[in-house]
This record gives sequence, C-alpha cells and structure tokens, in this order.
Amino acid sequence: MMKLRGVRELKHVDWATFVCQNENCRIGFQIEGINAIGSLKTKIKCPLCYSSNVKSLEKIIEEEKMKIRRVWKYPIPPFGDLDTEDCFTVKMPQFSQILTVQVQYGKPCIWALVNPASPLTDRRFRVAGTGHDLVHDFELMQYVGTFQLQDGKFIGHVFEVD
Ligand SMILES: [Zn+2]
Repeated sequence: MMKLRGVRELKHVDWATFVCQNENCRIGFQIEGINAIGSLKTKIKCPLCYSSNVKSLEKIIEEEKMKIRRVWKYPIPPFGDLDTEDCFTVKMPQFSQILTVQVQYGKPCIWALVNPASPLTDRRFRVAGTGHDLVHDFELMQYVGTFQLQDGKFIGHVFEVD
C-alpha cells in the first residue's frame, strides 16, 4: 500500500474516486490501493490533463452536504415552563439564522434557517410580555419577534440573549 505523508487518513479503502478540479477537464478517475483522504495534498494527478488540482469524491460529497440549508421549527415553551430568568435554551446547528416568530395551532414557534450538518450549539431566548421588566444586558439582547395568544389577550416578545 502506498503511504501518503502529511495528510489526515480517514479510512482505508482499496480504491478511491477523485474528480479533476480543472474547469476544462472535470473527469472522475479511480486510484487503487491508497487511503481515501479528506483533503488531498498529494502528488496524485489527473490522468487526462495532469492537473494536480484533484479532489476525492468523499470530500466533494461532504462539502455538498455542508451547503444544504433547511428551515426548522422550534416551539417556544409556555410561560410556566420558562426558567427563572424567563428564558429557554434550544440546541440549533451552528450559525442558524432566526427567521421569524409566529403562532401555529395556538403555539408560538421560532423558525430558523439551519445547516443540518453543523454541530449543535445552545441558543438562549428570553420571552417577555408587554410591560414586563427586562433585566438582561440590553447590548447582548437581539429582538427576534412578537407573537399573540388568545386573540391578543397575551402578547409575547422574544429576544435572543447571551
Ligand atoms: Zn483533468
């Protein structure tokens, strides 16, 4: 087996598929008897155009997965289930973009644009009714949206905190 130096070896396979990254070429080819690797920094060259700018298929698929975005829904807990700071924490994929707050079937929810392949991180939200005292550090508070329950008898305002 050929040893690749200075690269991260993800797993052993008997062959690996590569795709030439030269825009005018773009052929796929297989190399036998090496380790499939995440990022290719070796002397493997395209057999057609001899470009060394080639990428493993595994890496290409991984990169495509990282590009996917989906809208996910996060229910806002009822007031009684908020913690002592009137906050709740949800785990969202890293760098999720909060889109809106709306009521669906009588339950307030946050919708966010997420990258499902990203690792989960804690996002913390404060819910305040109109006229409620807000004691958070205001510079660290980001307004998310407002929702109405019971035909407007309760108005909730959602802020992201921390
Ligand atoms: Zn090529």
